[in-house]
Amino acid sequence: MSRWIVLGSAHSIAAPHAANTHFALVTTRRIVLVDCPGPVFPHLTRYHLSPHRITDLVLTHFHPDHVSGLALFLQNLWLVGRTRPLHLHGLPDVLDRARRLLDLFRWHRWKREYSVHFHAVEGPGLLPLLREPDVHLYAAEVKHSVPTLGLRFAFPESGRVLAYSADTAPCPAVEDLARGADWLFHEATGAGSIHTSATQAGELARRAGVRHLFLVHTDPDPRARHRLEEEARWAFGGPVTAAWDGLTLVWEP
Ligand SMILES: [Zn+2]
Repeated sequence: MSRWIVLGSAHSIAAPHAANTHFALVTTRRIVLVDCPGPVFPHLTRYHLSPHRITDLVLTHFHPDHVSGLALFLQNLWLVGRTRPLHLHGLPDVLDRARRLLDLFRWHRWKREYSVHFHAVEGPGLLPLLREPDVHLYAAEVKHSVPTLGLRFAFPESGRVLAYSADTAPCPAVEDLARGADWLFHEATGAGSIHTSATQAGELARRAGVRHLFLVHTDPDPRARHRLEEEARWAFGGPVTAAWDGLTLVWEP
């Protein structure tokens, strides 16, 4: 059984019912966190995920609403006595800044018993991040104000595909990531040179042949989300859901 859990669905300004956008992918072999905007441990407790079982953390880009919880997360892992290595994935710029952030906290002096492995990826096209029998993860650089990765999870056993745009303006890289995806989680912050509107997300989902579009990184107000759903549905012509915190997709295997 695999699960994709929306740990947070809000844009940069979170609300009591909506944390900043981040996710957890749970498969039999891996638990992959995507971004780390704030305290992660309350979410792990809420969704019954053991902090000892998290295998990977992907940082899409180095903006506060995506990485501010990193040092706290690593400190919490130390304090619960984690021993299993943790794998951090991202662009070289992002991992370099993450290291510098952790250095400010003098993390090398922590008496932690787990190691942290940095895996930098860069280059054109789809970049392989992970290859397990139950999940292949690819990334591609998208179009934001800082170096940013969008993601494509392919699940070979079920043939399913899930894509996440990260923060981006509409661009060919997101279309490639989303091509034929069962589920596309696309940001819908608003039109502009570094973000995407709900209408643009709908248009992109249609071009990419996506089955179900989920909007994330949105205004947490339920009325605003309803309006964004309508806009995207009109442009997409298929099912659209404005994601909420706790929304979970479950599939076999
Ligand atoms: Zn953001």
